[in-house]
Amino acid sequence: MTVGESLQVLLIEDSEDDALLAIRALKSSHLRLDWQRVQTVESFCALLKDQTWDVIIADYHLPGFDAPAALEMVQKSDLDIPFIVISGAIGEAAAVEMMKAGAHDYFMKDNLTRLAEAIRREVRDAKVRQEHRDAEVILKQQQAAIEAVIDGIAIVKAGTYLYLNHAYLELFGYEDSTELVGKSWHSLYIAEDVKRLENEIFPLLAQEQSWRGEAIAIRKDGSTFAQEISLTLTEDGTIVSVCRDITQRKQTEQQLKQLNADLLFSNQELGQFAYVASHDLQEPLRKIRSFAELLSERYQDQLDDVADRYISYITNGAIRLQGLIDDLLSYSRVSQAEFNVQETNLEVLLQQVTSDLETLIETRGVIISMDPLPTVLANPIQIQQLFQNLLSNAIKYCQAEVPKIHIGITQAHGTWTIAIKDNGIGIDPQFSERIFVIFQRLHNRNTYTGTGIGLAICKKIIERHGGQIWVDSQEGQGSTFFFSLPSSCDI
Ligand code: ADP
Repeated sequence: MTVGESLQVLLIEDSEDDALLAIRALKSSHLRLDWQRVQTVESFCALLKDQTWDVIIADYHLPGFDAPAALEMVQKSDLDIPFIVISGAIGEAAAVEMMKAGAHDYFMKDNLTRLAEAIRREVRDAKVRQEHRDAEVILKQQQAAIEAVIDGIAIVKAGTYLYLNHAYLELFGYEDSTELVGKSWHSLYIAEDVKRLENEIFPLLAQEQSWRGEAIAIRKDGSTFAQEISLTLTEDGTIVSVCRDITQRKQTEQQLKQLNADLLFSNQELGQFAYVASHDLQEPLRKIRSFAELLSERYQDQLDDVADRYISYITNGAIRLQGLIDDLLSYSRVSQAEFNVQETNLEVLLQQVTSDLETLIETRGVIISMDPLPTVLANPIQIQQLFQNLLSNAIKYCQAEVPKIHIGITQAHGTWTIAIKDNGIGIDPQFSERIFVIFQRLHNRNTYTGTGIGLAICKKIIERHGGQIWVDSQEGQGSTFFFSLPSSCDI
């Protein structure tokens, strides 16, 4: 019952007048009531089961029923309801018996002045008892939860263990909490960490109330293991320590570090190899090409058609190979070159690119429009190359009378996204990833010139800046190439 609520009163009384007398006594003391009267065992049983009651007031003796029987039923039902006996002529001995059996109070019918006060007190006491029971249940649940947790939990007071859960014992290789309760925690950590915790961490804990870190713990058998610990200082000065074994995690971290270092090394090796190989291949190739050209000049008309054709195959092959090697060199240069970023005005870069492509733009009658572009932190040489590749592709892969290109820009959460939209031939979406792979083309050389290096270079440039590049296109409906520059590029 809370303030403002009515008191639920169950009256066991065969006389209506007596019942009204008791009710009047309670109401005159300003108790708000909801009450019901029963006279038989059956109706009492039914009401006890179906409803909740704040207090039971029982006449000591009724025909076929009495207060001791009713009290026994309440107790058997495991209910803690204040039970008050009222009688016309209860003897001292019977009253004492009732109190011994568990009744909370008794009154004579002709003197009910203290009834309301007794009910108030008993209801309050019953409420306190209920709160205790609830708290005990919660405590038991919490204890069960603490025992079930996989992390080790210990409570330490004045440097010694007060409580440890099962996981804590297991973690340190102990079987029974008696082996540790009352003992100092010092022997469970290596001397260096004991010193660090005492001198550095505990003063910090006193200020911040909690700390999280790592330490090296010692098992019962003397072996050590890495542990992650979280310490919490409670108001009464006890420390709650929650810890777990992180040996596995440490090993994985170490392996990952090693793998990353290996990967970085082999990537650098590979990059260097591509660079050196393509660089060194240039020289013999140049020789093949120039001697094939010499051969064709010197022996013109002296050899037959087949020989002339063979020589031209050699020359063309060498020219193509030279082109491929040049591309490979430019590709590996992107990662080999030192990567410096500086404030880069994208608008100025684009103007530079359009002026470099001026002849092409004029011959094809290209219309270029653009949003105002920002200054970002980037590598200007590489971003210029990126714009150059994307713009020249937009012009090359366009059959419209008037090629139109729009350069747009948006910013979200610090990331710039730049879009280069054309009205060209478009790309089948199934190839939207493949086109960024080195030497991958969707057309043969007779339809559109090129070697398939441009977009691979763009991808590498953008990845070096920490961004991404992708395309949105449909065949015959133009393409939009997007690239993002992360917030680290934002000024
Ligand atoms: P290349 O132009 O030398 O073939 P890229 O790497 O620049 O090499 O492009 C790869 C392929 O992507 C091209 O062969 C072409 O099929 C397609 N492509 C690139 N840009 C466009 C574009 N703007 N419109 C349509 N297709 C394009």
